[in-house]
Amino acid sequence: MESIIRLSAALGIFCIMIIWEYVQPRRVQRVARKQRWPVNLGLAAFNVGVMRLTFGSLAYLSAVSAADHGYGLLNQWPVGEWLSIIVTVLLLDFAIYCQHIVSHKWPLLWRLHQVHHTDLEFDATTAVRFHPLEIMISMVYKVLCIVLIGANPWAVIAFEIILNGAATFNHSNINIPPAIDKKLRWLLITPDMHRIHHSTVPTETDSNYGFSISCWDRLCRTYVDQPLQPQTTMAIGLKPFRQQQELGFVRLLLLPFKALRK
Ligand SMILES: [Zn+2]
Repeated sequence: MESIIRLSAALGIFCIMIIWEYVQPRRVQRVARKQRWPVNLGLAAFNVGVMRLTFGSLAYLSAVSAADHGYGLLNQWPVGEWLSIIVTVLLLDFAIYCQHIVSHKWPLLWRLHQVHHTDLEFDATTAVRFHPLEIMISMVYKVLCIVLIGANPWAVIAFEIILNGAATFNHSNINIPPAIDKKLRWLLITPDMHRIHHSTVPTETDSNYGFSISCWDRLCRTYVDQPLQPQTTMAIGLKPFRQQQELGFVRLLLLPFKALRK
């Protein structure tokens, strides 16, 4: 049941963003959708299949199990239903922010995470472009965090929907007027903010790591307000992969096992 809720929410938000991108795009895309979308959506379908066959519901089940056994911070020191949901969502969001930084700094994890960054454009389909091993490692890490926190099971479902929806939103190629973007950024990560993280400029790639709320980047001083190049023309991706055409599905799956390109 919880996997149906998660999948329906993800598909609904994805469809809204695709329509919004079509009606009000932020950038003219130089790489055709027909080159990128089959790869990105193929990876998404592959990952959904792999997770369903392995441990797709593990996050929720680990929260239920932790509650049954009294494991974790919030199960030892209960704070009330609503507060425990808010604390869980905030702590998990910060945990994912930390994981994202480590994915960039630790070469072993970067091998997997670079698959996400080799996209030559930036739109809602970029949000689902992840190597299946990265998805699996993320799940193991998430389960550890959930048990340590003693996360509320409902909060875990809410968090997964929020994280997924936020990632789809902040990767999308939608045009938000600058004045509204500026206000939204005090709470959320907007596409203009996260696009900087997908810049080919290394100092910009090493910034704006957050997924849902923007405060972690501001508090931890990883926030960059604007890219060096204009948002509408800045190069997206990783420099070593810009010289060639979009990588195919199989090459992306094998990419982590090849020599790292500088
Ligand atoms: Zn990244």
